[in-house]
Amino acid sequence: MTLLRLTVKKKSSEAGKGALNNKISTELFKLLEANGIPTHFVKMLDDNHMLHTKVDVILIEVIVRNIATGSLSRNLGIEDGTVLPFTLVEFDYKNDALGDPKLNDQHCLILELVEYQDELDKLRRMARQINDILKPYFAQKGLNLVDFKLEFGKDNNGNIILIDEISPDNCRFWDIESGEKMDKDRFRQGLGGLTVAYEQVLNRILGK
Ligand code: 5GP
Repeated sequence: MTLLRLTVKKKSSEAGKGALNNKISTELFKLLEANGIPTHFVKMLDDNHMLHTKVDVILIEVIVRNIATGSLSRNLGIEDGTVLPFTLVEFDYKNDALGDPKLNDQHCLILELVEYQDELDKLRRMARQINDILKPYFAQKGLNLVDFKLEFGKDNNGNIILIDEISPDNCRFWDIESGEKMDKDRFRQGLGGLTVAYEQVLNRILGK
């Protein structure tokens, strides 16, 4: 077992965000576990700490997209807000020094990020299963799950499990009625109200 302190890559000055992310991640890991997705989650210890099982991290960021925005719109010129004809799953290299570049399957194998093609297929399959659980869950709470980033690792038995966190830091949520952004884009785009938005996401998850 290891102690994970939730951290953010790009620091925002707003207080309390780590605790909100920890609570949101805890609820979502429990939801996914209850729906058959193996995760590293053990329990929330306190506001800023989550206990999780030790894994070997797979250095692939799995990006799942239902609606085009962000780098997909920038890189391929797909109009922001376009509902994709099917859920897109992409792989990025988890490598800050290289700026997390896009990967295809051959890159993953050449870089030995996984051993076998089967493992890449499994990452895609698990990412789609997670989307199939989370997308309707958030829709019921009035939020569009636009896109999100997942990370995976291998446990002691070599099984691939979901790791890291699932929060508005690595998911995009748009309010279904107003279109308002309820995620880290509020910080990235200088919109303000980041903590209030994260609190609203948590409250909707908790049914408040
Ligand atoms: P984009 O590629 O459009 O910038 O991001 C797609 C989705 O993945 C967004 O929900 C974004 O929050 C998440 N994402 C992509 N890369 C990262 C990353 O390095 N860190 C975090 N926290 N989220 C990421």
